[in-house]
Amino acid sequence: MHKDIATPIRTKEILKKFGFSFKKSLGQNFLIDPNILKNITEHAGLTKASGAIEIGPGIGALTEHLARNSKKVLAFEIDQRLLPILEDTLSPYDNVKVIHQDILKADIHTIVDEEFKDIHDVMVVANLPYYVTTPIILKLLTERLPLRGIVVMLQKEVADRIGAKPGTKEYGSLSIAIQYYTKAETVMIVPKTVFMPQPNVDSAVIRLTLHEKPIVDVIDEEFFFQVTRASFAQRRKTILNNLINQLPNGKEMKDAISAALSNLNIDPSRRGETLSIQEFASLSNALFPIINK
Ligand code: SAM
Repeated sequence: MHKDIATPIRTKEILKKFGFSFKKSLGQNFLIDPNILKNITEHAGLTKASGAIEIGPGIGALTEHLARNSKKVLAFEIDQRLLPILEDTLSPYDNVKVIHQDILKADIHTIVDEEFKDIHDVMVVANLPYYVTTPIILKLLTERLPLRGIVVMLQKEVADRIGAKPGTKEYGSLSIAIQYYTKAETVMIVPKTVFMPQPNVDSAVIRLTLHEKPIVDVIDEEFFFQVTRASFAQRRKTILNNLINQLPNGKEMKDAISAALSNLNIDPSRRGETLSIQEFASLSNALFPIINK
């Protein structure tokens, strides 16, 4: 076994050797604790038959743990300056492919289909760049990649929103979007001290396990998400007012929206944060023909 990249001493050596300076704008907070990396990797439940997709390998701290525990690793890195470093630090591993692309622009589906042809168990495992955590997770889910799950480090505040239940202040359209596709769990709370440089916020690791099919039936996914976003647009307003103000034709369709809520036994004076995902599904199915007339 090779010496871990993620010790403070080795990380400093690597940064110095390549004259690397952190770019805050790219969310570069590298992990410098091998135990945390081991734990993250264990939570992914990889085997020697698994494929791992990493977003933002940095200098390879997590990548090498994934390489040791899976069949193949695909790592997407946006910062060109890291490519020669990764070439060097990951030279002991022949099962890693680094792809120099912005994950938000990459055609991940095609790349995964090509690179993981003979692999049937695929996990995303990453310490995400915090400025784009939500768009990255939503892209992975809405593109319907053939994943078993996602284990990622992110801001604790976002982890709380993702796993939130109805009736709490953290519950919102993000909780619903993610719980529509996955079972969400927070598996670790992580102190700032394990990063270099230390981020300003607390961190957590979440595990998302994909449902075989979404837990509710909706006529139109895009419209379902539109209704949930509309319902939380102004959290202090009632569900009826938010729907009227936010949905296209909402104002003209006020009476029909109000009737749809009553038919579903949803009191129009409730707030969006009290509705379950099942209620949002029934509501969006009832509103679909009304709003999309
Ligand atoms: N995995 C490393 C670790 O844990 O030490 C680095 C994690 S660091 C929080 C985030 C990494 O994501 C950085 O290497 C950064 O350059 C990269 N990154 C930022 N935005 C990206 C994007 N849009 N697509 C791909 N990589 C990105």
